[in-house]
Amino acid sequence: MDLYSGYINKLIDELAGLPGIGSKSAQRLAFHLINLPEPRVRRLADALIQAKQNVRYCKECFTLTDRDICPICQNPQRDHTTIMVVENTRDLAAYEKTGKYKGVYHVLHGAISPMLGIGPHDIRLKELMERLSQNREIQEVIIATNSSLEGETTAMYISKLIKPTGIRVTRIASGVPVGGDLEYIDEVTLLRALEGRVEL
Ligand code: ZN
Repeated sequence: MDLYSGYINKLIDELAGLPGIGSKSAQRLAFHLINLPEPRVRRLADALIQAKQNVRYCKECFTLTDRDICPICQNPQRDHTTIMVVENTRDLAAYEKTGKYKGVYHVLHGAISPMLGIGPHDIRLKELMERLSQNREIQEVIIATNSSLEGETTAMYISKLIKPTGIRVTRIASGVPVGGDLEYIDEVTLLRALEGRVEL
């Protein structure tokens, strides 16, 4: 039995397809949106479209940005000899929030997972290696992938690739809870993980 109109159902379905939104939340959000004044709804819709049309990957570190080169890569105050490798832009944001990391980043957009069929070619790993071979100034690569099985697999894989180049490879300390997404970890823990990084 169809409780709601087709339009409402469609909206609920779209919302329920978003990560972390169950069907109850989707219904709540749908009714909330329908009750908003039309200009507010239009602002939200425009924000979605504009973000989709204008956001792209930084040509250097592959984080999401609306310029060719992101503000971090462009910043001459940053230490461009140190690259921190993270799984996604949210992890980058978590480290940026600490305000203590002065190096630059490389965003992989995923992690190697044989179980899910995600291999080294499915993440931005080739781009990292190209960056390392083109920029002789890089002295250290800090691998800050998650401490999940996929994150550890990725870290081992990357370190094996980089080792022969003579560039120092380190891994953030494992104070980070296993399987924990970096973005949910508090700043103190993140800083401790960074300071306690170990040679690979
Ligand atoms: Zn960048």
